[in-house]
Amino acid sequence: MQQLTILGATGSIGASTLDVVARHPDRFRVYALSGNSRISELAEQCRRFNPRFAVVADTHAAGQLREQLLGLETEVLWGMDGLCQVSSDKAVDVVMAAIVGAAGLLPTLAAARSGKKVLLANKESLVMGGQLFMDTLRKSGAMLLPIDSEHNAIFQCLPPGYDASEKSGVRKILLTASGGPFRNLPLADLSAVTPDQACAHPNWQMGRKISVDSATMMNKGLELIEACWLFGLSPQDIDVVIHPQSVIHSMVEYVDGSVLAQLGNPDMRTPITHALAWPERIESGVASLDIIATARLDFGVPDLRRFPCLGLAIQAAKEGGSAPVALNAANEVAVDGFLQGELSFIDISRVVADVLESHEVAEPESLEHVQQIDKKAREDALKLVHSMRQ
Ligand code: NDP
Ligand code: MG
Repeated sequence: MQQLTILGATGSIGASTLDVVARHPDRFRVYALSGNSRISELAEQCRRFNPRFAVVADTHAAGQLREQLLGLETEVLWGMDGLCQVSSDKAVDVVMAAIVGAAGLLPTLAAARSGKKVLLANKESLVMGGQLFMDTLRKSGAMLLPIDSEHNAIFQCLPPGYDASEKSGVRKILLTASGGPFRNLPLADLSAVTPDQACAHPNWQMGRKISVDSATMMNKGLELIEACWLFGLSPQDIDVVIHPQSVIHSMVEYVDGSVLAQLGNPDMRTPITHALAWPERIESGVASLDIIATARLDFGVPDLRRFPCLGLAIQAAKEGGSAPVALNAANEVAVDGFLQGELSFIDISRVVADVLESHEVAEPESLEHVQQIDKKAREDALKLVHSMRQ
């Protein structure tokens, strides 16, 4: 029986993970669940899965949750200490890292440090602390399995035991992207799009932050940086390909000309189940891919005028060091500004560009250094958001 902690249980990835777990009560036992603002949803999950611990943001939320869990054995913890405790607890085998944004960095690192099987959805933590993560994994022997559908696809197309330092005959990665809801919108209309329009992704149901990132294609830029760390590649080894159907989740091209792809319906339960059961294969509840109904697969090159955030992320990936930390922090602040109605959609890339422009690239030396760089970039971005307020 695998004991499982789900960080970010109340979110989209969290809910899909619990859906898979419920199908396999003989394999997985929920040890801990965490939430942030959705306390009633977390309480409902606790009633259903009866975890040993539930973690919320602060003492006030803890009090609210305890009231809703009267009579249950679940112990309520709070704050970063609570998240790190349930990520590193000796009793835990697997940690699903599905908190959104930089808030996931510390608990995900705690899981890596304590040698857990880490299922990584929280790409922002790897973008921020890539070197730290990779060093930690090497030291602790923890295993990192990618949940992001593209990276999970790449992982499936690489040979078993792939060694990033030897590249195993890999020539390049084709990282697919749907192009989001605004792929064909006239450029002049982009300035007036609303948060709800940006979050209406054509193929995937996701949380609001990653949905906006998909609309700007910052998501693909973060994924490019994520892929570099996970598979020991440089940005030049990765081509971003627009593929509107989201059926091919990414491809690996080898030096002999072979191209391996992983296909499936756009449903996150496939990569989640793959990583949960790896190296076995178990049922996920995902319907068979109807290749006849799919009929056609289209491919194109992303237009960097439409998606300046993708260009900025590629630039930050090439600069390396602290540039991705600043990029990620500025993006989180700008996306939040857009979702709060303070910024227009096209201002997201302006904030990120301005922060990157004034950022002096350094080599992050420690976790504290990463956090300092993140904090400074957030302050700079927030000033810009205030100056641009609509
Ligand atoms: P959601 O917004 O749906 O869920 C985010 C989760 O994180 C929720 O449980 C939320 O709690 C919690 N959370 C938010 N802020 C904090 C905080 N400050 N401290 C602690 N917990 C917090 O996001 P998704 O599930 O869509 O995405 C989660 C991660 O997975 C992201 O990094 C995303 O990039 C990645 N990912 C998601 C995919 C998807 O299909 N959804 C695909 C690939 C990657 P609450 O809801 O209670 O406030
Ligand atoms: Mg993805």
